[in-house]
Amino acid sequence: MTETKYEVATGIELDKRTYLNPVVYRTECPECGEEVIKDFEQQYLSYPITGVYEPINHYCDNCDNEFSSGEIKVDLVVTIKENR
Ligand SMILES: [Zn+2]
Repeated sequence: MTETKYEVATGIELDKRTYLNPVVYRTECPECGEEVIKDFEQQYLSYPITGVYEPINHYCDNCDNEFSSGEIKVDLVVTIKENR
């Protein structure tokens, strides 16, 4: 069995609701220090574009603060398995 992997070029728009199991990202609210969790299995990305960063936005339930803690991008890898 021969396997070939291709890292697909950037710029492919993914699904309206792209769930990213098992990506769970934890950070702290810069205002109050409360832990804020972004579970990308539940909180999908909407039409992410492969290879392109977008901000990770949070809402802190503890102090009503909205903030961005960084950026996330989705890369796409394609694998072809040959029957030989
Ligand atoms: Zn807070």
